[in-house]
Amino acid sequence: MIDFYDLDLDDKVLDALDAMRFEKCTPIQEKTIPPILEGRDVMGIAQTGTGKTAAYLLPIINQLYVGEHCRNAINCIVMSPTRELAQQIDQAMEGFSYFVPVSSVAVYGGNDGIRYEQESRSLKLGADMIIATPGRLLAHIQLEKPDFSNVKFFVLDEADRMLDMGFYDDILSINKLLPDCCQKIMFSATMPDKIKRLAGGILKNPVEIKIAVSKPAASIKQRVCYCAESQKQAIIKDLFAKNKELSRVIIFSSSKKMVKQLTLGLLKQKVNVAEMHSDLDQAQRDDTMMKFRNNHISVLVATDIISRGIDIDDIELVVNYDAPADPEDYVHRIGRTARAGRGGESLTLISSRDRLRFQNIEKLIEKKVETYPLPEGMKVIKEPTENSGQKKKHKNGSKNVRGNNKSNEDRRKSAKNNAPKRNKQGKTNSGKQV
Ligand code: AMP
Repeated sequence: MIDFYDLDLDDKVLDALDAMRFEKCTPIQEKTIPPILEGRDVMGIAQTGTGKTAAYLLPIINQLYVGEHCRNAINCIVMSPTRELAQQIDQAMEGFSYFVPVSSVAVYGGNDGIRYEQESRSLKLGADMIIATPGRLLAHIQLEKPDFSNVKFFVLDEADRMLDMGFYDDILSINKLLPDCCQKIMFSATMPDKIKRLAGGILKNPVEIKIAVSKPAASIKQRVCYCAESQKQAIIKDLFAKNKELSRVIIFSSSKKMVKQLTLGLLKQKVNVAEMHSDLDQAQRDDTMMKFRNNHISVLVATDIISRGIDIDDIELVVNYDAPADPEDYVHRIGRTARAGRGGESLTLISSRDRLRFQNIEKLIEKKVETYPLPEGMKVIKEPTENSGQKKKHKNGSKNVRGNNKSNEDRRKSAKNNAPKRNKQGKTNSGKQV
C-alpha cells in the first residue's frame, strides 16, 4: 500500500489527511486517485468499507483547488441513493476539504420547507459540490433549473443501488444536462448488465477498477443459528438476557413490522434500543442515527434502509433476524461491523423459510458459516416445510457471540472516532449529527 504522499495531491489536501490520521491508501484509493487526477473517467467496482468515498473526493477536491474552478458555480455533482449516504459523504467532505476553500451541500429532501429553501439557495449561489439523492435533485431541476454548465465532475456512488431503486432514467436525464467535457466517475458494488449499460451510456473510455468481489471481510466472525421462525424472538431475548453488556449492535430484519415488534420486545427487556425504518420521517431518522453514533443508543433494530453505505466504525455485532432476499444484502448487512480493518461478529437466524436464501448466501460468499447453538433448554422444532438441516440439539447453551478479540488499537480508534470533531469554523460538533 502506498502513502498519500506518493500521490500528486496538494499539501493542503495532505494536511487534512494528516489531521484525520489517514496515512496509507486503501487499494481502491491507490488505483482510483491517479486516473481521476489525470482527468480520466472511472468505473470502480468496490463495496462500502473499502475507502471509496475518499477515492473520489480527494482527487476532485484537489483538482477544484489547484485548477481554475468557477467560484459561485456548481462544479461537481455527487449522486447518492439514500439520504443517509448523502449526509455521510457530506461529512467526509467536511473533513477532506478542511484546509481548502471548496464548499459542499447535501441535497436530500425531507418534508421540511425550510430545508428545501436552503438547498435551493445553495444551488443558486453555486456550492462547489452538490451531494444529492436523484429524486430530490430532479425536484430542484424541475422547479428552478439550476445552472449545471460549469459542472466538471459527475459521480454516481452506489450506482447499482440507485438502479435497484428505479432511478435509471432519472440519472440519464440529469446526465444530459451536463457539459460534454464533464469527467464522470461511477462506483458500484456489483456489475450487473444494467450497470454495464449505464456505464456504456455515461462514461467515455473509462479506466475500470475492480477491488472487491462481494465477500465479507475475513475479520468478521460469522455464525448461523438454525431455528424455527417461532423461536427467533426468544433467541434474541436470550442473547440480550445472557449478555447484559452487549452494545454497538445492529439487528436487521427485512420487515418493518418485525423491526417494530423486536424493538418493543427489547424495550420491555430494558435494552437501550431504537428502531430505524422508512416509516420514520427524516428528522426522526437523523435523531436516531445521531444517538446511535454517539453511543446514547446501544442497539439499533433496522430494515435494509441502513444496510449499505452507513459508516459507523465500532459496530461489534450484527444480528440478521432473517436472511435477506438478495445475497449481496447479507454482505452489506454484516459489513456494518469490522469496518476499516477491525474485527466484529455476525449472527444470522435461519428458519425453514430462510434456508434457500441462506444457501444462496453461502454460495456467494463461498463459505460454510459456523453454527451457533440454540439457547440451553430450547428444543429443536421441525417446521412443516423443512426436510433437512438441523438434526441435533446443541448443548452448549448461549455463548456471547462477541469474541473478546478487541485489541487496544481497536479501542484507541474507536475512542478517536467518538471524539468531537472540528468543523470548518473550528468549533466542535459533538452533540450534533456528525
Ligand atoms: P468508505 O468505504 O468510503 O465508506 O470508508 C470506510 C471507512 O474507512 C471510513 O470510516 C473512512 O473514514 C475510513 N478510511 C477510508 N480510507 C482510509 C484510509 N486511507 N486510512 C484510514 N481510514 C480510511
